[in-house]
Amino acid sequence: MTDPAKTLCPYCGVGCGLEVLPPAQLNKPTHRDAAGTPLWQTRGDRAHPSSQGMVCVKGATVAESLDRDRLKYPMWRESLAAPFERVSWDVALDAIVERIQTVGETLGPDGLCVYGSGQFQTEDYYVAQKLVKGCLGTNNFDANSRLCMSSAVAGYIHSFGSDGPPCCYADLEATDCAFLIGTNTAECHPIVFNRLRKYHKRHDHVKLIVVDPRRTDTAKAADLHLAIRPGTDITLLNGIGHLLLRWGALDPEFIDGCTQGFAAYTEVLRHYEPERVAERCGITLADLETAARTWAKSKAVLSLWSMGLNQSSEGTAKVRTLINLHLMTGNVGRAGAGPFSLTGQPNAMGGREAGGLSHILPGYRLVKTADHRHQVEQFWGLPAGQISPTPGLAVGDMMLALEQHRVGLLWIAATNPAVSLPDLNRTKAALAQSPFTIYQDAYYPTETADFAHLLLPAAQWGEKTGTMTNSERVVTLCPAFRAPPGEARADWEIFAEVGRRLGFAHQFNFVTSAEVHREFAQLTQGQPCDMTGISHDRLAALGPIQWPCPDPETPATAATRHDKRLYTQGIFNTADGRARFAALHEKGLAEPPNDQYPFVLTTGRLYGHWHTQTRTGRIEKIQKMHPQPFLEINPRDAQQLQVQGGEWVEVRSPRGHVRLPLLVTQNIRRGTLFVPMHWGSLWADDAECNALTHPVVCPISGQPELKACAVQVIPLAKVDLAPATAIEALPEVTESSILSAVPSS
Ligand code: SF4
Repeated sequence: MTDPAKTLCPYCGVGCGLEVLPPAQLNKPTHRDAAGTPLWQTRGDRAHPSSQGMVCVKGATVAESLDRDRLKYPMWRESLAAPFERVSWDVALDAIVERIQTVGETLGPDGLCVYGSGQFQTEDYYVAQKLVKGCLGTNNFDANSRLCMSSAVAGYIHSFGSDGPPCCYADLEATDCAFLIGTNTAECHPIVFNRLRKYHKRHDHVKLIVVDPRRTDTAKAADLHLAIRPGTDITLLNGIGHLLLRWGALDPEFIDGCTQGFAAYTEVLRHYEPERVAERCGITLADLETAARTWAKSKAVLSLWSMGLNQSSEGTAKVRTLINLHLMTGNVGRAGAGPFSLTGQPNAMGGREAGGLSHILPGYRLVKTADHRHQVEQFWGLPAGQISPTPGLAVGDMMLALEQHRVGLLWIAATNPAVSLPDLNRTKAALAQSPFTIYQDAYYPTETADFAHLLLPAAQWGEKTGTMTNSERVVTLCPAFRAPPGEARADWEIFAEVGRRLGFAHQFNFVTSAEVHREFAQLTQGQPCDMTGISHDRLAALGPIQWPCPDPETPATAATRHDKRLYTQGIFNTADGRARFAALHEKGLAEPPNDQYPFVLTTGRLYGHWHTQTRTGRIEKIQKMHPQPFLEINPRDAQQLQVQGGEWVEVRSPRGHVRLPLLVTQNIRRGTLFVPMHWGSLWADDAECNALTHPVVCPISGQPELKACAVQVIPLAKVDLAPATAIEALPEVTESSILSAVPSS
């Protein structure tokens, strides 16, 4: 038996270590699919510092998707109405090069748009930045991380002077109070939750506070659950700040020595009288005071958040308001303390390091900072002024540009915007306007492939070697352990080949991804995310390494310690070294409920599925776990609408509709509805939650408010359309069938 390959789970940002065993080594019926074909198998890697051998159902089953519905060859069609035909890589690459040149001459470089993914390895991201922002001269490279954590990035940058979560997972086991807001960690980051929950259970003094309009599995484990009205996070946080100020529960030394802007912040806090805050948030005064008292009494407070804060039209303001509480109490840069953003995608962090959003450059540099542009131009051997000083289009703006015929080429890779973007009917209409769309993915069919002219087969996880960084800044080498199917190629190889064919042979003379990583790591030298001490060789020899890691000679023992916190000296990455308070009031939902659309719809994830099901939809165990979408509704709302559990309803927003069976549950507050976001048109009819969501974004981060829109609910029997007979054939959704799919804590 050969040794298993050690790698990282390619799903969420927890970044669990996996060991992978090939099918040839397995001969048990459980290691075969329904057709009897032997399957690759994964198990937790006990040596991985982040997950310590733990793994959730997604990581445990991921290898089963490796050979399902793979795109193996480049495919081409003249128009969206025509069938795809197989073409050679030469034909495909020549077509891309010709199109890029034509668009450059007609629309200019900003007529090109590339939309990538947190599924990329860092090497894929880096080569794409060099091609798009460097050689092609447009910053129109954005990634699906825009939908996931760009508000966290903006919050860190504005409060601390640079991106980078300051905490590590060791803090989960060193805190006195875990304050979870806008995160269903038990389902969406299960192994982080497992670590926290074990510690919480073993230590009576440790408190767990969860802020969420839904009583999720995370909330059920809490000492205090604050089921606030959607959109009132800033009011709640300022209300806690008000009480801390009133009680003098501050860290004056930290405030005086390490921050700026406290006076303006206290002016804002004056307006957040606890009684009004409790009423506005829809919670009791006693619960608000308990939350504030727990902050005040705890020596170390660790806050965790994810999409619940980030996916908001005031996402950056929410993140900064949360960070304020850490600054006023000195809860940052210490064991068990700090504001910790949990990333969604497996390598969203690597994308941030490599400059994989339209306003940033590699090494935590900013497009709009002249010095940063010049450093990168020089490093890439490009003329001064080659990198545009204008931030590129975020993905939402790319859709607008498509509508306005300002895009000549759209290149989408490893993501599925025809399901995941808001205001989906309009998004699809915009995608259909694209004169030339390249879609580079490992799987076919997907919903986005319907909008492509050229399909490029991508090697995926396990078929290419590269690195990924998880939420706690730990970099893991993910080696190829099998050959890609057909003619699939690594994303970085595709970008590099296009670069060479465009005449940038010198810039793209990489032979291996280790060379790509070496160059990328050099570009991080002296930056907050300095990784000059990390290389493929060192990762292979030492195992995962946490950044910052500036010294290539760092001894193994030090390099593999995974508790390097940022800002331990209270010195931040701003010009004067001080963190910034933000004096911000709540603006509320971009689309509050009203007479016509009286409910707030919130969206989210289920334990087993991953995003738009491109992988998990192809794994039987997970399909059985979550067979169909549903709509969660409070029993009193259901009673008022005269509908019952299992009954089908139509949910309408000003932009579209879906049809779903009801799950009547006390776990959601009155006036709020919940629908999982995983179902696109490939997996169910009329169940795309983003048909309902609106496209308003946070003005600072560009992240859409996917978590809230106003909707109405109509029993299907009352809709002026005959219910399809297929609906009757679908299995009934019950609360127990949903809950049985959730991991017990
Ligand atoms: Fe993979 Fe995330 Fe599950 Fe870990 S918690 S196994 S990284 S999906």
